[in-house]
Amino acid sequence: MTNATERGLKAILIEKNDFASGTSSRSSKMIHGGLRYLRYLQVNLVREALMERGHLLQAYPHLVKPLSFILPSFNSDLDMLSKHLALIAYDKLAGNAMVHPHKRLSTDELLKELPGFKNKGLKGGMLFWDAYTNDARLTSDVLCNAALQGAVTLNYVEATKFINENNSVKVLVCKDLISSETIAVKARVYINATGVWTDEILEKLFGPAAKKMEPTKGVHLLIPSNRLPGGHAIAVVSTSGDKRFLYTLPWENGLTILGSTDSAYHKKPDEPDVTTDDINYILDAFNASFPHAKLTVKDIVSVYSGLRPLLNEKDEKDNYSRSREYRIWWSENNFINIAGGKLTSFLSMGKHCLDVVHTRFKHLWPDKTKETSSANYNGAWKENYDQNGVFIENIVAENALYKATISPEWKYTLAEMVFFIRYQFAETLADLLTRRTSITYAMKDYNQPLVQSLAELMAKELGKPYGWIEEQQAKYYQHWLEYHPLLLHSTKAASGNPEYSHAG
Ligand SMILES: Cc1cc2nc3c(=O)[nH]c(=O)nc-3n(C[C@H](O)[C@H](O)[C@H](O)COP(=O)(O)OP(=O)(O)OC[C@H]3O[C@@H](n4cnc5c(N)ncnc54)[C@H](O)[C@@H]3O)c2cc1C
Repeated sequence: MTNATERGLKAILIEKNDFASGTSSRSSKMIHGGLRYLRYLQVNLVREALMERGHLLQAYPHLVKPLSFILPSFNSDLDMLSKHLALIAYDKLAGNAMVHPHKRLSTDELLKELPGFKNKGLKGGMLFWDAYTNDARLTSDVLCNAALQGAVTLNYVEATKFINENNSVKVLVCKDLISSETIAVKARVYINATGVWTDEILEKLFGPAAKKMEPTKGVHLLIPSNRLPGGHAIAVVSTSGDKRFLYTLPWENGLTILGSTDSAYHKKPDEPDVTTDDINYILDAFNASFPHAKLTVKDIVSVYSGLRPLLNEKDEKDNYSRSREYRIWWSENNFINIAGGKLTSFLSMGKHCLDVVHTRFKHLWPDKTKETSSANYNGAWKENYDQNGVFIENIVAENALYKATISPEWKYTLAEMVFFIRYQFAETLADLLTRRTSITYAMKDYNQPLVQSLAELMAKELGKPYGWIEEQQAKYYQHWLEYHPLLLHSTKAASGNPEYSHAG
C-alpha cells in the first residue's frame, strides 16, 4: 500500500476481517533470512529475505528488533562444521545488512548460555543473529502509514463478487460487515493478495478450478519466559522422527513463544484449530532438550494456530521442505494474484507485484511520485511508536486522564488504546487486545473488569450504542477461548461464560 501511494497511485485495501487477523498475526514472529532454506539451495529467497530484514530493522526499529539465535550441535564435529559453513554463507549473503557475525560456542559456553540444556552428545553450537517482531502490530503500522499518505484501508469489508466483461474485472462488489452496506469498487487493476484464501477469491471469479494453494498448519504455545533460559531464541529438534527444528522466541509481556508444528491442512481456512497432538508435539521437543524443565499443559499461558500460504507444488516432498517462494500471475487482463512468500519479504513482494502491474499499465501510470513528509518526532513515545508517537502525545494533551494505565497489571496506557482506535483501525475488542496489543496472549485468566472497561472506552470513541458493549464482550470471550482452549482450562469449561454485567 505504501509503495503504491508513493508511486502516485490511488490505492484501496479491502480486508474481510481485521488487518492481520489471517496468517499475519499467527507467524513465528521471526524477521529472518531463513537459514534452513540454504539446505535446499534457495539462495535467492534467502538473499532477498536478508536484505528485507536489514531494511525492516532500519525502517521499523520500534517493531523489528535484532535477536540472537542458538543452534546446538550434536554427535559429530561434521555437524558443527556444516552449521558453521552454512552460517558463513548466511552472513556473506546478508552483506552490509548483516546484524552481527555468527560465533562458534564450545559445549561449556553453550551450557553457560542455556543452563539445563541436555548435554548428552552435545558438541557445542552456533550463535547467530536474525530479528523478531510483533507481526500484527507491524501490519497495522504499515497500513496506518499508508492511510496517512492517502490510501484507503477498510477492515471488516468482504470482497463478495466480481463483475467481468471482456476478460477484465469491471467492478468488485463488497459487503461492509459492520454496517451491512454494499460497496462497489471500480479500479483499473485488482490485486488478489489473500494468502490462504487465494483459491476462494479465484473461485468467485471463475468458479471451482485446480487449487493454487496447499496450506500447512503451524501451532505455537506461549509460556512464562522464566520457564526456559531467556535472552536468545533457541533451536531444538523435534522428537517425532521428522527431525524438524522448533524454536523458543522471547516475546512480549513476559512470554516466550514455542513453535511450531507443520502439518497438512485441508479444512476451511478461517479457524485453524489446536489439538492435543499439536501441543504434545511441541512440549515433547522442548522437554527432550530441557529435561529438567518438565513443561506440562499447566505451563501454557495461551496458544495460536496459523496457516502457511504455501503454493501447490506437487513435486515437493514434505511440508517442511516445501518452498517459501512466492508467485505473481495474471488471471484476467486487470486482475493479478500474489501468493506464497514470507512476512519478512512483504515489502519486496509488494514492490515486485507493482513492477509487474507497471509493465502492463505503463500508459495509465501517474507521472509523479508522491512526496513523503519527513516528520521528526523525538518525544517519549518514539521508542514504541516511532513518528506516530506524536498522535499519542496529542491524545494525552487532550485528556491527561489518558496517561493512566488500563489497569495496574498492564503497562499499556489508555492513550495508546485511543491511538489504536483512532489511527490504527481497531473496531472490536479482539482487534485491540490481540492485534494492536498482545494482551489476549498473556491473559491466562479471563479479566472481565478489564475487558468491560475497554469495551466502554471503545464504545465512547466509536460512538456505539450501549448494547454494543455487551455484544462485544460476548464475542471477545469466544475469541479469547480460541487462544485459551478448553483443553488448557478444564475448570473454565465447567463454569462456562463469565457474566457480562455493566457497571455504569
Ligand atoms: C506457523 C507460521 C509461522 C510463520 N513464521 C514466519 C516467520 O517467522 N517469519 C516470516 O517471515 N514468515 C512467517 N510465516 C509466513 C507469514 O506469516 C506469511 O507469509 C504472511 O503472514 C502471509 O501474509 P498474507 O498477507 O499473504 O496473508 P494473510 O495475512 O492471511 O492475509 C490475507 C487476508 O485476506 C483476507 N481475505 C480473505 N478473503 C477475503 C475476502 N473475500 N475479502 C476481503 N479480504 C479477504 C483475510 O481475512 C486475510 O486477513 C509463518 C506462517 C505461519 C502460518
